[in-house]
Amino acid sequence: MKTKTVAIVLAAGKGSRMHMEIQKQYAMLLGRPVITHTLDAFEESPVDEVILVVGEGEIPFAREEIVDRYGYQKVTHIVTGGKERYESVYRGLCAKEEGTSGAAADDSSRADSPEITYVLIHDGARAFITPELIGQCIRDVQRYDACVMAVPVKDTIKIVDEEQYSVSTPDRSVMWQMQTPQCFRLAEIREAYRQMLACGDRTMTDDAMVMEKYGNRRVKMTMGSYENIKLTTPGDFILGEAILKHMRRETEA
Ligand code: C5P
Repeated sequence: MKTKTVAIVLAAGKGSRMHMEIQKQYAMLLGRPVITHTLDAFEESPVDEVILVVGEGEIPFAREEIVDRYGYQKVTHIVTGGKERYESVYRGLCAKEEGTSGAAADDSSRADSPEITYVLIHDGARAFITPELIGQCIRDVQRYDACVMAVPVKDTIKIVDEEQYSVSTPDRSVMWQMQTPQCFRLAEIREAYRQMLACGDRTMTDDAMVMEKYGNRRVKMTMGSYENIKLTTPGDFILGEAILKHMRRETEA
């Protein structure tokens, strides 16, 4: 069976926890916009194509200042996201249905389908993903059909009540912290998202939850990296620069 891998890179949303004038995905990190660090990794990875999801009215900017300027060959679609992350993901999942290339190529549910298309859904703000980690995701999704990059939690986690008193302490040894890429068969996760939207369910905080509740697959953890952080608050930029410098030293060594 032939397979194909598409990445959805999410770069919409306001990132209000960053308190920045410019959206964090376009802010400079070691001399380049954040999103280019992310796209570099996908460009160098075994992924076949990339769907970039950007904010309302940002397609021309993203095309000229990011995709063309930095010469990304794998970005085949740039689509507008929604107000919430799940809306952006769904629009990315539908891009190939509405798009100009690869009509029906993602329809792995067809009996005569020539190939399975896998999708890696990735937060553009996780700029420290590497081609190697992406390659590992592809191998795992081909093996398990649904997997998410994650790491075992390092800190003790507490369940608290409304007044922030500790109620209980779950067993840390069975807890993992979710990252991205989150990886699935494209046709399956798109159908799961459709069902979630049809139910008016707005409680899902990651793609794995959508698959667990509305899809029909168990989701396997694939070991991520503690450096695969999401740039969320201003302090993350300081950490992010240090991570990038460290990664560059490793590749030069
Ligand atoms: O806001 P937060 O950091 O949790 O967003 C995670 C990722 O999802 C970011 O890369 C952001 O660009 C993306 N996102 C999106 N559409 C939204 C909200 C967030 O593409 N409406």
